[in-house]
Amino acid sequence: MFIGAMLWVVTPIKNLSNANNALQEGLAAAVRIFRLLDTKPTVSEQERPRPLAGFSESIVFDKVSFGYEQSRTVLEHINLEVRAGEILAIVGPSGAGKSTLVDLIPRFYDPTAGTIRIDGIDLRDVSVGSLRGLMGIVTQETILFNDTVRNNIAYGLKEIPQSQVVSSAKAANAHEFVCSLPEGYETIIGDRGTRLSGGERQRIALARAILKNPPILILDEATSALDSTSERLVQEAMERLMKGRTVFVVAHRLSTVQRADRIIVLEDGEIVEEGTHEVLLKGRGAYQKLYRMQFGEDSTRLFVVDGPGTG
Ligand code: ATP
Repeated sequence: MFIGAMLWVVTPIKNLSNANNALQEGLAAAVRIFRLLDTKPTVSEQERPRPLAGFSESIVFDKVSFGYEQSRTVLEHINLEVRAGEILAIVGPSGAGKSTLVDLIPRFYDPTAGTIRIDGIDLRDVSVGSLRGLMGIVTQETILFNDTVRNNIAYGLKEIPQSQVVSSAKAANAHEFVCSLPEGYETIIGDRGTRLSGGERQRIALARAILKNPPILILDEATSALDSTSERLVQEAMERLMKGRTVFVVAHRLSTVQRADRIIVLEDGEIVEEGTHEVLLKGRGAYQKLYRMQFGEDSTRLFVVDGPGTG
């Protein structure tokens, strides 16, 4: 009886020690989750923010300055007006403040001085949700989740029919490679899309932006080199996406700056030149210098100062 009783209790005792492991893992995860939930947003809304129903006129930077730290200004006295429907390309050396400038538009940060207005309303007065709802954002770091291709494309949108997901993927030149995945649109793409190549990740991010169909687009062209086929597919998708929208694009490709209605050149956080590609090339200013320094005759990439992968 004693031996029998011992055999009976061995398994529960083992389970008890395993339960402690699970508990410790759970506690460690809970600490991380609560830390994330407790993160304070960098911007806060007014008590009664104004919802934006659409975008029809312009986005204006009025004497805008910004610094991540008090001791160092990253953007200095930026005056800029972008009309609805305009494509604005932002170029300049690495660290000039290009990404920072576009990050102010969806209000990831507030300017330390000056104001940004959308259709005449200060960004600080509008509801952040409605403001960001007007924008599609495709950055160098594509934000993908460990979920299916479909859910990554339709992220944040409710009850989207499969046909729309597929047509966005087609417009983003992603449909073909998605179909070749083991489970097509239902394939799980791994943490941050690690099971996809760089070009494929970018095309999924572009498909997401096409599906959202926003009036304002913020693009931060990736500086990391893709192979020429992938580069062409991404470029085509970007051009389709830009059509008929107001676009702020941090440009690294020649075709993008050529397509832009206006280019601004940023240096050390200041706009030093402004104009079209043809006009700026004729001048003897910063744009021409950058173009000559960075741009080989047969290359299609502009201003990659520190080489591929520059963030
Ligand atoms: P790149 O072409 O390399 O992407 P960029 O022109 O987009 O460069 P930003 O990323 O806007 O430049 O950075 C401008 C400056 O602000 C840099 O000196 C950078 O070190 C600094 N900076 C950028 N992000 C942060 C941050 N989150 N905290 C503190 N400083 C930052």
